[in-house]
Amino acid sequence: MKSLSETQYYNIDKTESVNIIIPEFVGNNKQVKTLGIWCSGGADSTALLYLLCKEVMRSTTDIKIQPMSVRRQRPWNPVKATHVINKITEILNFKNMLPHLIYYPDLKDEHQTEWQEFQDRNKQNEETGVWDVLYDGITSNPPEGAMPYDTDQKDRRDPNVTHELITTDGVYHRPFFNTDKKFVANIYKQENLMSNLFPLTWSCEGTFEQTNGYLTPCEDCWWCHERYWAFDRY
Ligand SMILES: [Zn+2]
Repeated sequence: MKSLSETQYYNIDKTESVNIIIPEFVGNNKQVKTLGIWCSGGADSTALLYLLCKEVMRSTTDIKIQPMSVRRQRPWNPVKATHVINKITEILNFKNMLPHLIYYPDLKDEHQTEWQEFQDRNKQNEETGVWDVLYDGITSNPPEGAMPYDTDQKDRRDPNVTHELITTDGVYHRPFFNTDKKFVANIYKQENLMSNLFPLTWSCEGTFEQTNGYLTPCEDCWWCHERYWAFDRY
């Protein structure tokens, strides 16, 4: 896979690294023009969006970034995501951000969960050329015993498994999947994003009531614990 641009990022003590890669061609010789990315407004997908924008700028191409969000069981996602997309655009003076796409699956349709919507849109968007490469900021869980209790993400984000970071056709990229949120925190610190970008990100999955309408983290859900473990703040 020939890449248009590729940069390696390390954690602060240089024991781990990730590669942010923009391929020139994917699949059956399809030229890459647009990069899609799911944005939840969380710390992980936000860090990836930031690094991806930097990579596009570094590549000196006219490649566009297409941010996307789903509004379903986590209603704050598109709102938080909009704020971080705007902030990244401002910090980097980034010129190639396409308008934020937000999908609204029917809340009454039990089948059309957030996860199902991701699967359906990924297939459709790849076929219709909404993007040519899709990036996902998923990380692994903290090491065993680091967290006070388990999450339903235990299996999918198992830190003891080596995950595939790029599919063989080059279309799907999950560069953070073999690192955890502490690595992501190191990116914020090294890129000087702790005072401008980080406060706009939202990891909490507490209810409307527990968070004063998604304004103050509940400090009690698993995701708040994970964020505190990684960043030393909520
Ligand atoms: Zn919380």
